[in-house]
Amino acid sequence: MRKIVHIDMDAFYASVEQRDAPELRGQPVVVAWRGGRSVVCAASYEARRYGVRSAMPAVRAARLCPDAVFVPPDFVRYRAVSRQVREILLRHTDLVEPLSLDEAYLDVTSNKSGLPTATRVAKAIRDEIREQLRLTASAGVAPNKFLAKIASDWRKPDGQFVIQPQEVDDFLLPLPVGRLPGVGKVMGEKLAGMGVGSVAHLREIDQATLERRFGRYGIRLYQLARGIDHGEVCPDRPTMSVSAEDTFAEDVLLDALAPTIRSMAEKTWSAARKQTRIGRTVVLKLKTADFHILTRSHTPPVPPASCEELTRIALSLVEKVGLGAQVRYRLVGVGLGNFHDADDPQVQPQLFDSGIV
Ligand SMILES: [Mg+2]
Repeated sequence: MRKIVHIDMDAFYASVEQRDAPELRGQPVVVAWRGGRSVVCAASYEARRYGVRSAMPAVRAARLCPDAVFVPPDFVRYRAVSRQVREILLRHTDLVEPLSLDEAYLDVTSNKSGLPTATRVAKAIRDEIREQLRLTASAGVAPNKFLAKIASDWRKPDGQFVIQPQEVDDFLLPLPVGRLPGVGKVMGEKLAGMGVGSVAHLREIDQATLERRFGRYGIRLYQLARGIDHGEVCPDRPTMSVSAEDTFAEDVLLDALAPTIRSMAEKTWSAARKQTRIGRTVVLKLKTADFHILTRSHTPPVPPASCEELTRIALSLVEKVGLGAQVRYRLVGVGLGNFHDADDPQVQPQLFDSGIV
C-alpha cells in the first residue's frame, strides 16, 4: 500500500506577488497581462470572492471585480520560488513528481525525515513552506495519486485532508463523476446520458460496458470508480514532446503564418536541444478563429537534425491544412513529438531499407 501526498500551492502566482509587495496584501490581485485576449494566470483569494478564476478572460475578471489590481506575470520569479518549494519537498523524499510550477506528487511510503505517518510528513512540508518561504500550501494524503489530488482541494487554502485506505469508499462514492481525472465536460455529458452522475452510479456499470463505450479509458473509469490507481510517482518523466505556440493579436490568413511558424520552430528547436532524447515527429498546430484546433504532422525517416530542417517540415505542413483560403487563424504552434532515446533503433537511419535484410 502506497502513501501518496499531493502538494498544491495556494493561489501560487498571486500569493508570490502579495508576499513580495506588501501593498498588495489584502487586495484582490489578478495576475494577467493587460489586453483583450489575455487570460487570468492566477487570482488571489480576495479576487476569487468576486468570482474571478484562473483561465478566465482578463476582461471578464475586470468586469467582475472592478477594484482588482492587475499584475503582469513574472514567470522567472515564480520558477525560482518553485525551485525552492521543490528543495523542501526533496528533503522528505526523492520521489517527487512535479505537475506544474505549483503542484507535485510525492511518494512518502518511506520518507527521509523519519516521520511515522504521511499525515505528519504533509504537515511538516506545509510548515516548512510557510516558515521558510512565507507562502501557504494545501496537501492531500491518500493511498494513490488520483485520490491525493482530489483530497488536496478539500481544505483549501492552507489545509490538508487525509483519506485513509479504509475510508476510500465513504469519500469517493458520493462524489460527482466530474471529479475523476479525465472526466471533463464532454465525458461528463456522455456519462450523464447513461444515467451516471455520481461515482456510486458509475460503480454499478460493468467493465465490459465501459470498455465498449470508451475503449481503454473505460477500463480506467472502472478502476477509478473503485478507488484504484496503480500510477507510480515518477520523479523524472521522460520528455514526450516539446512545443511552442503563439496567439495572434488579430486573426490571420493561412498564407500569413510563415514568419510565426519560423519563430515557433526556433523556440521548439532550442528546447528540444536541451533534451537527452530525440524527437521524430514534427507537428503543426492551428486554432481557427472559431476555436477549432487542428494538427498536421510528419515523421521523416530520419529525425530532424537542425532548426532549418524542423522549420522546413513545419512550413511544408501548411500545405496539408486543407481548409478554405478565407479561413482565419488565431493561434499557431510548432511541436516536436514522438521522442525516443538516442540509441533507440527507431531514431537510427534506416541502414537496411533496401530490401537486403
Ligand atoms: Mg495551486
